[in-house]
Amino acid sequence: MIASGDKINLLGLPKGKLEQFFVEMGEKPFRAVQVMKWIHQRGVTDFAAMSDLSKALREKLAQVAEIRIPEVQHEQRSRDGTIKWVLRLDSGNSVEMVYIPERERATLCVSSQVGCALACTFCSTGRQGFNRNMSAAEIVAQLWMAEHRLVDTLLPSERKISNIVFMGMGEPLLNFEAVVDAAEIMMEDNAFGLSKRRVTVSTSGVVPAMARLQERVDVSLAVSLHAPNDALRDVLVPLNQKYPLKELMAACDAYAPNAPTGSITYEYVMLHDVNDTDRHAEELIELLRGRPAKVNLIPFNPFPQSGYQRSSNERIDRFMRRLEAANITTIPRRTRGDDIDAACGQLVGEVEDRARRAERLERMALRPAS
Ligand code: SAH
Ligand code: SF4
Repeated sequence: MIASGDKINLLGLPKGKLEQFFVEMGEKPFRAVQVMKWIHQRGVTDFAAMSDLSKALREKLAQVAEIRIPEVQHEQRSRDGTIKWVLRLDSGNSVEMVYIPERERATLCVSSQVGCALACTFCSTGRQGFNRNMSAAEIVAQLWMAEHRLVDTLLPSERKISNIVFMGMGEPLLNFEAVVDAAEIMMEDNAFGLSKRRVTVSTSGVVPAMARLQERVDVSLAVSLHAPNDALRDVLVPLNQKYPLKELMAACDAYAPNAPTGSITYEYVMLHDVNDTDRHAEELIELLRGRPAKVNLIPFNPFPQSGYQRSSNERIDRFMRRLEAANITTIPRRTRGDDIDAACGQLVGEVEDRARRAERLERMALRPAS
């Protein structure tokens, strides 16, 4: 393990901040680009190997800075190629990320917070509560690892990461600065160089942060809608009580014209008999009428004591056909990694349970026999 100490982790500094770091060290700002390429393009974490820097600078860097990557705590591979990793950030905090290879692209679903405070009722991350924000370095580390350490060694023939979705654990817009910095690094030409059409921040509707996001960084936006009216959305996404649909849709209307694809993706998790009937489809069509929108229908991923059931495939098809008939582009999300629960906070819960179980067993074993 690389010691953490008080050293600054350069993995999380976007170009401007890295330049500032070098200027404060009495160096020329262009060092930032050299170091970014070493870290993010070549996957180098040891300053000693950065051969276009002077030996003196490499030594100085090693004293004040580091490139620190979390450990993989757990890995699960699905039959369909999906891989889920649990990363240990520090002793008490783990997050997950999911790699989804497809024919045309490879998507990495990243986390932005440990847990989530927003308590959507169908989401297992929400049920776990909120622990802490992730740093920009921890967010970027997910892409860095998938790109340089994991995918290469595991799947030499697979595609590298082309798409990032902030759809893992946490609400990205409640960890604003770190998410902005991380997204910048993901799109920076001297780092990962991903296209802004292929970096998507997903929000449950933190309305005031949506406009601020667009002012700071040019990324695609997905909005977790899940219900076509306030009464139902108040229940499924409690944040709706604070920012109701009228305000949310106004924020979407302001975002869409300057969004990389000119539109917003609306996520809609399909819950049997809760939000998946013809009436809900009609209401959704009304809500999205005249708006540049794509709808992503997500089959609910069940977890113990959720109280919800996944809509049947027939229901999902029917719902989709209705939206399509109203000229709304609708993408049914295939369930990927089903056999490994590759959705939203589930694996971390299991790992923690297992760790607690191990602890319990240990305590029992240590207890003197009576
Ligand atoms: N907090 C952000 C991003 C993370 S959640 C947001 O809510 O948008 C990413 C997506 O996964 C959201 O659309 C969320 O509603 C969905 N999701 C959460 N729990 C789910 C479950 N059990 N099954 C299917 N999708 C789920
Ligand atoms: Fe948080 Fe998103 Fe889960 Fe809601 S769906 S609890 S906002 S992670």
